[in-house]
Amino acid sequence: MTEYLLSGSLWWDGRFRTGEALRVEADGRAMPVPLADVPEAAPRRRFPGTLLPGLTDAHVHAALVDLATVRAGGIAAVWDLGGVPERLAELSRRPGLPRLRYAGPFLTAPGGYPSDRAWAAPGSWREISSAVDATAAVAEAQAGGATLIKVVAHAGGPQLRPFTLTAVVDAAHDRGLEVVVHAEGAGTVSAAYQAGADILAHTPWTEPLDRALVAACAERMRWISTLDIHGWGVPTREQATAVANLRRFLEYGGRVRYGTDLGNGPHFFYGLQWWFFGVLAVFGFLYLAYDEWRIGTGRKPPRAQDGPRSQIARSIPPSTGSITPETNDDAGESRNAAARPNSSGSP
Ligand SMILES: [Zn+2]
Repeated sequence: MTEYLLSGSLWWDGRFRTGEALRVEADGRAMPVPLADVPEAAPRRRFPGTLLPGLTDAHVHAALVDLATVRAGGIAAVWDLGGVPERLAELSRRPGLPRLRYAGPFLTAPGGYPSDRAWAAPGSWREISSAVDATAAVAEAQAGGATLIKVVAHAGGPQLRPFTLTAVVDAAHDRGLEVVVHAEGAGTVSAAYQAGADILAHTPWTEPLDRALVAACAERMRWISTLDIHGWGVPTREQATAVANLRRFLEYGGRVRYGTDLGNGPHFFYGLQWWFFGVLAVFGFLYLAYDEWRIGTGRKPPRAQDGPRSQIARSIPPSTGSITPETNDDAGESRNAAARPNSSGSP
């Protein structure tokens, strides 16, 4: 049955709205409508304050955090980017938690990251050493409930050969799964791009990226922000490098998702990190995730007519310094409306 949600104001599809209600269809699709269009007898619920869509943290490690607290903090859905599939499947069925979409284990080279890290539980990574392995690992992950594939390109240890990395991506795409790459260190972003990967788990932070590479990434990839893993609130060189790379990525029209890498590091606040948005605003862009409608079903990202989503996300072209509302693209992620390189070459 269609119902209407009434509140003092709405933030929906990247716009602050007053004088509108949210119409929610029986299947969950939602859209703002003028208050005058709310039928007299229609079921309705009233809320105080401003009604926001469900917000997604696109990079967490769900088994390492208290998901109930994350939900209480304002996060409606999370993407787990590396964990033990059985544990994640169990968490995804538990009521009262954010909706959970997960990638299954890190796929990595024998002895590669994160198999040598204390926080990585046995089963949260899977070593692969050939294209056959890669194909089998992707199939296993999907059979375990993964709707994304996470793969590692880490210059600080044993790495997958390009051919194997490409085989992971091909196997995932054959199964309708997107591939998220942990790219860390020289040459790894390029390797991820050339393999055909869809998403970077982190904004690259180890070095300033070549402009042409950033432009190429912006054409096709999405980057997950995770800016605060560098310093945890204290500015660092790595954070400055990541911010510069991210700004350039946005200048070229790249799409960004909000993600925190929650569970991996000393986060002191679970949930929506409002103070973090302040940091982003200072740097000249501000963005957030949107509701991933029918999350975890392995379907393609939603289109505008498919369901509730929003975009608090927006970017501010550095050349103007003003906030420019913009519309979502089909994937509902942050995209710089200017979509062109900054001719000054900054930052
Ligand atoms: Zn992570």
